[in-house]
Amino acid sequence: MSAFETFCQTAIDDIRAQGRYREFTPLRKQARRFPYYEGTNGREVLVWSANDYLAMGGHEAVIEAACETARQMGAGAGGTRNISGTSPAHDALEAELAHLHGKPAALLFTSGFVSNQAALSTILASRPAGREHLWQVFSDEKNHASMIAGLKSVPAHVHIFRHNDLAHLEQLLEAAPPEAPRLIAFESVYSMDADIAPLEAICDLAERFGAMTYLDEVHAVGMYGRTGGGVSERDGVAHRIDIIEGTLAKAFGCHGGYITGQSVVVDYIRCVAPGFIFTTSLPPSTAAAALASVRHVRGDHDRRARLFERAETLKRRFDAAGLPRIASESHIVPLHIGEAVLCREVSQRLLEEFGMYATPINYPTVPRGQERLRFTPSPAHTDEMMDALVAALVQILAPAKRQAA
Ligand SMILES: *Cc1c(COP(=O)(O)O)cnc(C)c1O
Repeated sequence: MSAFETFCQTAIDDIRAQGRYREFTPLRKQARRFPYYEGTNGREVLVWSANDYLAMGGHEAVIEAACETARQMGAGAGGTRNISGTSPAHDALEAELAHLHGKPAALLFTSGFVSNQAALSTILASRPAGREHLWQVFSDEKNHASMIAGLKSVPAHVHIFRHNDLAHLEQLLEAAPPEAPRLIAFESVYSMDADIAPLEAICDLAERFGAMTYLDEVHAVGMYGRTGGGVSERDGVAHRIDIIEGTLAKAFGCHGGYITGQSVVVDYIRCVAPGFIFTTSLPPSTAAAALASVRHVRGDHDRRARLFERAETLKRRFDAAGLPRIASESHIVPLHIGEAVLCREVSQRLLEEFGMYATPINYPTVPRGQERLRFTPSPAHTDEMMDALVAALVQILAPAKRQAA
């Protein structure tokens, strides 16, 4: 083995020893039977941790749009947006997303990760206050890896504020040099902690200190707000947020990421960001599917209501069964396990013995000691499925607790 291969092996052994080795679970999605997937040997698996939050990935109108557009325009875009990669579906989707968030413009990216990385790095590489001033960035400590990738890839002063801690954010804003441009980067729904940022208060601070606001609404778009415009729509502050970023891959059930904001800002990023310019655009079929999904979801208020009803019902059932649920203000229902090996084992037994799947969330996604299972009940998860899940968890966790004690 080469020195590098030896390094890789040692690192993997170490990861394995810590119970953090990641193994894929083979799951074949069945569009018409969601949330039932096909596992190994054709076995049926009830999935509890898909990010297809609204079960839109299998919606008839969405599948039809994808198939019809693929037949008309082919399987791939055949170029970047600048090189023959712009279809009517791309343009219509951008217009729809801008409208969803009440912004003049939107820009598509090949994923939510890329949208955050490309937009943030491009903004922070600019020098609006003169060449001498680096940006002062204020970033929530729980921000997603894609935002961190954007912040870290360019020279900027990054200040990390404690999660959702307004006093700490204010203190850091006060201490920063007043002549430098400022940006506050945060999420609305934090998917691992299942909590929601105080958007209005953050906007107040941003206005007081002349800071730009960049909001990741990936775990909120489609679900929160009257038309699924996210928590910024729900809280009536979308017009106070400079850039709202989202994904088409979670509640909208498709693929791709985007930003929305002022036309001149979006246009600047379109003209400058390598993560936009130098990569093939989304397949037109994907853009068309996402467009059908966003259009449907905006008007499907019952689907949104049912999602929250399902989440509240699962929370109540976990509580009634005495399961160690982590407090959640959102549609996400986390269960505390607290140890990586145990977390993996509970997930594995759930799959092998009960035919149900929930992702184990381990370090580094959450701090050590806070390992958890994360459940995302969708409108398609029934009471009977919840009964089966609670019974299985009670059976698995009771003896596991005795063993740990
Ligand atoms: C999943 C996720 C992303 C990335 O979105 P993709 O479309 O999956 O690349 C960005 N931000 C947050 C908070 C996420 O959870």
